[in-house]
Amino acid sequence: MDKNILIIGAGPTGLGAAYRLAELGYRNWQIVEQHDYVGGLAASFRDANGFTWDVGGHILFSGYDYFTRLVDRLLANQYLEHVRNSWIWLLDRFVPYPFQNNLRYLPKEALWECLNGLWETNQKHAGAPGNFREWILRTFGHGIASHFMLPYNEKNWATPLELMSHEWIAHRVSVIDFQRVLRNVILEQDDINWGPNRTFKFPRTGGTGAIYQAFLPAVRDHLALNRKLTRVEPEQRRIMYADGSSEHYDILINTTPLTELVAHIHPANPQLIQQAEQLRSTGTLIVGIGLAQPCPSPKCWIYFPGEESPFYRVTYFSNYSPENVPGPDHYSLMCETSYSASRSVNRSSIIEETIRGLIATGLLSEADRSHIVSTFLIDAEYAYPVPTLERNQILASIVQFLARKQIYTRGRFGLWLYEIGNMDHSVMQGVELVDHLLRGEREKVVADFPLLG
Ligand SMILES: Cc1cc2nc3c(=O)[nH]c(=O)nc-3n(C[C@H](O)[C@H](O)[C@H](O)COP(=O)(O)OP(=O)(O)OC[C@H]3O[C@@H](n4cnc5c(N)ncnc54)[C@H](O)[C@@H]3O)c2cc1C
Repeated sequence: MDKNILIIGAGPTGLGAAYRLAELGYRNWQIVEQHDYVGGLAASFRDANGFTWDVGGHILFSGYDYFTRLVDRLLANQYLEHVRNSWIWLLDRFVPYPFQNNLRYLPKEALWECLNGLWETNQKHAGAPGNFREWILRTFGHGIASHFMLPYNEKNWATPLELMSHEWIAHRVSVIDFQRVLRNVILEQDDINWGPNRTFKFPRTGGTGAIYQAFLPAVRDHLALNRKLTRVEPEQRRIMYADGSSEHYDILINTTPLTELVAHIHPANPQLIQQAEQLRSTGTLIVGIGLAQPCPSPKCWIYFPGEESPFYRVTYFSNYSPENVPGPDHYSLMCETSYSASRSVNRSSIIEETIRGLIATGLLSEADRSHIVSTFLIDAEYAYPVPTLERNQILASIVQFLARKQIYTRGRFGLWLYEIGNMDHSVMQGVELVDHLLRGEREKVVADFPLLG
């Protein structure tokens, strides 16, 4: 095959596809990116004061051998390995993550509410839950739901939970039984090992974005930066860019948000646009706070269900690598606040609101304000693709329409699937799509989703 393959977007998915094309010795391809840097949501930024920031707390873990070997090679083993040390802040105390496994840290009244609720859920509720909210109540009972699961998820997803499905939770939420919870409480045991990210890696230098910088030697000759796609003409197999230039393709690999791609299609397809408009996403404001002080805590990250802070998560980012801060007596906090059509934020005051939240939750004191030497704000407009109830049906229709036009859409927002929206899934989606196009191989990462027709 010598078709012209054009990749839109140089985030992990686009770079995964590009790397594989280069690895297989294919020549007729190009990758374009709207920004002047690669990495997309997984890029990192160094601020004027020498602090490095990610677009929210990124950690590296994977069950895919190809991805693990690729990252080891790209980073030349220059990464640090960590054991997760994560917590939930509520009721004026820290509870180890996962919350539901470590109820013994709660005050007695709240502990009773959680145990009683969990016991009651064992006794009733036949039939499948209709949405994520129902799933939480039926799985964990009223106590765990009201103290943590409902407020945290409402804050993180910035979406009414009744609009969400519960099918995405498999690898993301620890589901445990009453006996195990009771044993942990009575035997006073911590139970913190759950989950695929129990241990993780982090690049020694340059933040998470260092991984994607390391793709450059393999793809540079085919990469065009500062090129923003503004129109796709599927019948002519032509795309146009913001600078007025245009280009032909035989096969288009899209990794930009699906909603935007559909809006770029010319002539406009009102039915497709109307379907795409029903897909929901959240944005995240990431506030970096750099301090000239030794780090007061060995924690990795903390979840915040309460309304005393705007953020849902804070990462002690300097604990991931000492190179993330300008010197040894410095540390950094990275704070993430969600927003959406149903949860607004004020961009102009979010840094001050974040500092107030850090003080209200005890991570900083009023006196620590004088040690803040850097603040940094990133606005990720597309951060979480929301698994809504009707999502799969909408996606199947759009994705199959595009594939008939030789447009293959993959990646976190290209395919809009949170379940397979991490960095490893994204890189592998790109790699496997190329293996499919060039070698007829079956794509495995997307195989669980009957979207592709
Ligand atoms: C807050 C947060 C925390 C996360 N934490 C983790 C984690 O701990 N571990 C993990 O593995 N993953 C994590 N992720 C997910 C990770 O960031 C994604 O898996 C990954 O970035 C998705 O890659 P992608 O290439 O599909 O999309 P993106 O990274 O969004 O890349 C898409 C690219 O397309 C470009 N583009 C968009 N529109 C156009 C256009 N019109 N023309 C040209 N180019 C365009 C964009 O600029 C971008 O570079 C996290 C994500 C967020 C938001």
